[in-house]
Amino acid sequence: MSLPVQRDIPLQSLNTLAVPSCAEFFTVLEKAADLPEVLAQARQSNWTVRVLGEGSNVVFAQQLDGLLIKQRCCGISVVEEDAQSVVLAVAAGENWHQFVQWCLQQGYYGLENLALIPGTVGAAPIQNIGAYGVEVGGFLRSVQARELATGKQLLLSRRDCELDYRDSIFKRELRDQLIIEVVQFRLSKVPQPVYAYPSLAQWLEQQGLDTPTPEQVFEAVVAVRSSRLPDPAEIPNAGSFFKNPRVDEAMLQQLLQAYPELPHYADEGRAAPPNSYKLAAAWLIEYCGFKERSNAAVRVHPQHALVLINPQRHPAREILSLAGEIVSAVKTEFGLLLEQEPRSYGF
Ligand code: FAD
Ligand code: NAP
Repeated sequence: MSLPVQRDIPLQSLNTLAVPSCAEFFTVLEKAADLPEVLAQARQSNWTVRVLGEGSNVVFAQQLDGLLIKQRCCGISVVEEDAQSVVLAVAAGENWHQFVQWCLQQGYYGLENLALIPGTVGAAPIQNIGAYGVEVGGFLRSVQARELATGKQLLLSRRDCELDYRDSIFKRELRDQLIIEVVQFRLSKVPQPVYAYPSLAQWLEQQGLDTPTPEQVFEAVVAVRSSRLPDPAEIPNAGSFFKNPRVDEAMLQQLLQAYPELPHYADEGRAAPPNSYKLAAAWLIEYCGFKERSNAAVRVHPQHALVLINPQRHPAREILSLAGEIVSAVKTEFGLLLEQEPRSYGF
């Protein structure tokens, strides 16, 4: 039996910014076997096809034409295993945080710093999710996907994914071309906790944990994140709205002359050019005075200027209008162009 496609489906509860939006056509994919048929139907009907995970990194216009497929296929299997490591094949609709928790329970290590990142496993490679000094790319083995236009299946190796800082081929050449079905990860059975990241190290030190286990790093990440970042279920947001800008040594030195306090970090990203630095976008935004606008309906979070919040569930155009003001203020003050992290649709 073919997968039911519904018409005019509201999306406000399906995106963490809680913007009002409506999908012209919508379907929930729970069985991978249904995908070829639904893509064939979309081709026949000439619909644009888009993919939705848990909606934590998207900005939707009030009307989305075409078909939106919510990827909710689940399942985890062991593909290879030896004494040191395991390779897992994970269906794209699995919840990311639950998958991280499950890995820890099995004694499969590496992803603990990425705890509590909202969203699905299938979305993780799209922007090479990262936090607290770890990126998912370090554990990615391959991505199995289908072309939305043809229904053809593809297998991409980690190298094919061209992962970079909050970036991958899925945000560039293959943007909106594929639906990811399965992601393979290689994880370690030997604990190798990573906890040098300042806020993490500080929390662990306060607890007297000099040599934390992966489980303790997981708990630390959950505690630090919960204390700092707004829960989208309470205050709608899409996490960091902008990427941290990258600059070269010459630009950094020029900026430091004018702004000696400017936080900067050596950029160790996979595809970072030599002598490249990351600047804290939150600091740039705060410097431009956006934290002071605490009465606006759509505003920056009081604890974290990189997170735009939408407590009154206003339409996306108001969020993009604030984002535009921020981009232009930062450009005028620092000469730097902030790049939006969540992807906009329907504008
Ligand atoms: P969605 O928002 O549904 O989709 C995002 C993009 O991926 C869209 O373009 C969509 O078309 C595409 N997509 C989704 N699933 C598939 C699929 N199966 N196949 C093809 N394309 C697909 N990100 C970080 O990197 N680090 C963080 O620490 C972090 N913290 C966050 C904290 C908060 C409070 C919030 C709200 C967001 C945070 N994010 C973070 C951003 C977000 O959680 C990630 O980008 C996440 O991977 C998005 O998953 P999703 O399933 O919600 O994707
Ligand atoms: P933070 O610790 O306040 O740091 C602010 C920024 O400075 C971060 O963006 C971080 O870059 C950078 N930074 C800090 N210390 C660094 C170091 N030692 N080396 C390199 N870069 C450093 O960050 P936060 O906002 O509370 O977030 C904590 C972690 O969760 C960060 O890794 C952040 O990226 C991640 N996060 C991401 C999102 C999202 O939506 N993308 C939302 C919330 C949190 P990095 O971003 O490269 O780490």
